[in-house]
Amino acid sequence: MNLTQLDDWLKLRDDTNLPSGMWIDGRSVSAEDGATSPLVSPRDGEVLTRLPAASAGDVARAVSSARAAFDSGIWSRVSPRERGLVLIRWAELLEEHRDEMALLIALEMGKPVSVAWNVELKTTIGLIRWYGELADKLMDESPRGKGDALALVTREPVGVVAAITPWNFPMTLSTFKMPAALVAGNTVVLKPASQSPLSVLRAAQLATEAGLPDGVLQVITGSGPVTGAALATDNNVATLTFTGSTDVGKQLLHYSAESNAKPVWLELGGKSPNIIFPDAPDMAEAIKTAGWAIAFNSGQMCTAGSRLLVHRDVHDEVVTGVTDYLRALKVGDPLDPETDFGPLASRRHRDDVLAEISKGVQTQAKLVLGSDQPLDRAGWFVEPAIFTGVKADDRLAQHEIFGPVVSILAFDDEDEAIAIANNSAYGLGSAVWTSNLSRATQISRRLDAGLVWVNCFEEGDYSVPFGGRKLSGHGGDKSVHGLEKFTTTKTTWMAV
Ligand code: NAP
Repeated sequence: MNLTQLDDWLKLRDDTNLPSGMWIDGRSVSAEDGATSPLVSPRDGEVLTRLPAASAGDVARAVSSARAAFDSGIWSRVSPRERGLVLIRWAELLEEHRDEMALLIALEMGKPVSVAWNVELKTTIGLIRWYGELADKLMDESPRGKGDALALVTREPVGVVAAITPWNFPMTLSTFKMPAALVAGNTVVLKPASQSPLSVLRAAQLATEAGLPDGVLQVITGSGPVTGAALATDNNVATLTFTGSTDVGKQLLHYSAESNAKPVWLELGGKSPNIIFPDAPDMAEAIKTAGWAIAFNSGQMCTAGSRLLVHRDVHDEVVTGVTDYLRALKVGDPLDPETDFGPLASRRHRDDVLAEISKGVQTQAKLVLGSDQPLDRAGWFVEPAIFTGVKADDRLAQHEIFGPVVSILAFDDEDEAIAIANNSAYGLGSAVWTSNLSRATQISRRLDAGLVWVNCFEEGDYSVPFGGRKLSGHGGDKSVHGLEKFTTTKTTWMAV
């Protein structure tokens, strides 16, 4: 990181102009009726700025100009190589503005700057570059038919891709959508979460600077039920890609059915099991990682290890170790590079998390760390919480809290661990810690989840898909597989 002191970041904050308009047709614009909503920082409750609240009319204009940009061929018909070079240039500009981007993320959703800089922006910049480099390496197919007849199976862009994203990783999760859709030749209309539009608005400005033609990437701001719904029901949107809660994901399927039956790709919630056996190759590492898996990003992770399944023989050791890990976290101002545990993203979300802790306290489960009261400091802070004695059917083990609350469940054998792990409406992440190769293989086959980590957690790469199953969604992002939802195949037969 270039800036290593809190004072450096506070100075950058003073020197930075926050985006204040939507990014449409390569420029900053207001809502037509001038409507705006305040953006409040979870860091201290300060109103950072006001941003346009796009009406259905504003959304229709943004989509129709994205459609016009697509039809013009200015992006959809240039060579893949040219598209790739623009993405690579965009990644370079984001790298040059990495401090500013990290600042915006920390201000809008409370992520510690060190995490925004080292993790979120690393992934964002790397993934945009990766898709840029992939651009001219994708080939179509030309199988032969009867006689000399030749078939061409070509992948074509779908048109306008709408993307709706959440606040917990405002840049990374938008980047799971944007470069893949763009490199395939589509135009994109992105609606970020109301809580966190600043970083993607700035990123869109930089995309224009990098040479992305006007209208190819539009970022609209406003509430989910108005702006998001208008986007999801727009008949000019060819495909909708979403990351967010399961409830909203289901609603989007209705919107699709009520409009043009567009495909809807969903990355939804999770309640990921993290299973520790006594023969974990490095128990200290397993314990530290279990603590990290619920504390990272203040537990606001779709893949958070929120169900910790521990073999009874090591139960007490793990509980003590995770408690020590969480107690040692440095809670603080997200702009302080020393901070590793920041606030929750909004007051409402903080209150929801505390309400879930309060409900847990009223069950047979035992709260061994944490409280149902907020921390006594400015901003939307809570203490990490640990419940032991949780049963597989308890709300604590079933409901996604999306905060730093871990439920610990004891088990006696493999079958019981798998039964507990799979007893969930979700199927996103999962992890198992064991030295026994055959047990690791068996369990990873039997876990009903899109991602399985053996003796690690949250491992990933640009080249591998990320996504879930069941109520966690479908159609993973990243990798070459992530491109498929943004293209459609055409078969052309040529009698030669
Ligand atoms: P959310 O409430 O579902 O919001 C996600 C996005 O949908 C926001 O942009 C939101 O806009 C918009 N939205 C809300 N209602 C809408 C509607 N009726 N029509 C269209 N759009 C609408 O989720 P969140 O609270 O931001 O994020 C937390 C959830 O995301 C958790 O469940 C988490 O597990 C999930 N998530 C999943 C993944 C994954 O990859 N599987 C990754 C990260 C997060 P507003 O902000 O204006 O409400």
